[in-house]
Parts: sequence; structure tokens; C-alpha cells
Amino acid sequence: MDYWTVKEFLTFDSKDTFSETILALHPRLKETKDLEGDSKIEFFNKYVDQVYEEKSQELHETQEKIQRKWNNVEDTFLDKAKELFNGHEWPEGAYVGFLSIFNCNPRFLNQKTFQVYYKHPEGPVYVGAHEMLHFMFYDYVDKHPGLIEDANDSLLWNLSEIFNVVILETPEFVDITGNHKPEPYKKHEDILPDFRDIWKESENVDEFIQRSSEATRSFTNSM
Ligand SMILES: [Zn+2]
Repeated sequence: MDYWTVKEFLTFDSKDTFSETILALHPRLKETKDLEGDSKIEFFNKYVDQVYEEKSQELHETQEKIQRKWNNVEDTFLDKAKELFNGHEWPEGAYVGFLSIFNCNPRFLNQKTFQVYYKHPEGPVYVGAHEMLHFMFYDYVDKHPGLIEDANDSLLWNLSEIFNVVILETPEFVDITGNHKPEPYKKHEDILPDFRDIWKESENVDEFIQRSSEATRSFTNSM
């Protein structure tokens, strides 16, 4: 999967934070800047193979450790999230998190899979919970189309990210993830307090989604 990740995210655009984090962690990939087509892909694939070989033990141990940690909290997390969404069933899917040597952490909504950087600073259990909450959120608003008027990708993306921070910083989820301070996207930092207030005032997730989608709409329109 990391063959794909580097091909997808390494744009060499200095304003592209994904591309920049790849280069910061893997400076040798700078050599591919002027390569094209097959030779570029070949370099990527060889490089990924090499890192996996070098870090084989570390990756293996990390994977086992994360799986153990996740197994400990999985049932509680699944129940809590379901409860949060008024008993909404978890959508069908593979639900696999793949370790990655790149810190891009993409998710694949249809397959219900995601990648997580194996040294992610917020902890892989947090990242797992965060990504899974996205899967649930998107499925829920999809099945309850009345909740958000004129939803578009950008609105849903912003709302879903803000939603995750507000929810995952509540004590019951902090107990699960061990992350007391979920990191918001920079551009969401200033508006988060408003959303925390909406959450406190909301009786349930429907009210929160309705009200916060309006707040997100005015925010995304002003960007
Ligand atoms: Zn997210």
C-alpha cells in the first residue's frame, strides 16, 4: 500500500504538507524529483521495499503492540460510538488499519480502511478511533439526508474533522484513546470553541450535526 501512498502524495509542491512530510521523513526520495514515469515508480517501490526490510522488526513489533492496545478498547469504542449515533449500526466494511512509513494517514471511505503512520504522535489507537468515527459519521449523514441541507464534499470534510475533535476530546472517548488533546487542523483552531459550545447545548448528535453544519457552512464560505 505504501507504494501507492508515495506515488499519490509526493508532489514536490512545497505548499503541500503531505509531500513535505514525506520528504522530511525520507530525504532520499528527493532524488526522484526529476525522474519520470517507470523509473520514478521503480525508485519508489525499491525504496519502500528497502525501508520495510530495514525496519522489519520495528514495524512488526509496533503492529503487534497496536493490535493489542486496540483489542483492549475495541468493544467499548464500538459501543460508545454506536450509542453516540443513536444506535446506528456500524456500516459494512473491512475495517483494517494499515501501518505506513509515511505520515499521510489517508482513509478509504468505501472500503473502510485507512493508513496510519507507525510513529503517529497522537498514538495509533487514537488514529484508529478517529478514522472509524469518520466512517460512522459519513454513513450516518448519508442515511439521514435531512440533517444537512445542501451538503457538499468540502462542508462534510470540515464538519467531520471538527466533529471528531469535539467528540474525541470528551472524557469517555479520552478514556478509550488515551489522547487528552486531539489535534485539530490549524484552520479549525479558532472556531473550535463555538463547536464545543454547540455540543454542550445539543441534546443529541442530530441536533449537533444540524447546528454545527450551519456553523461550518458560514466558516467554509468565509474561507
Ligand atoms: Zn480526520
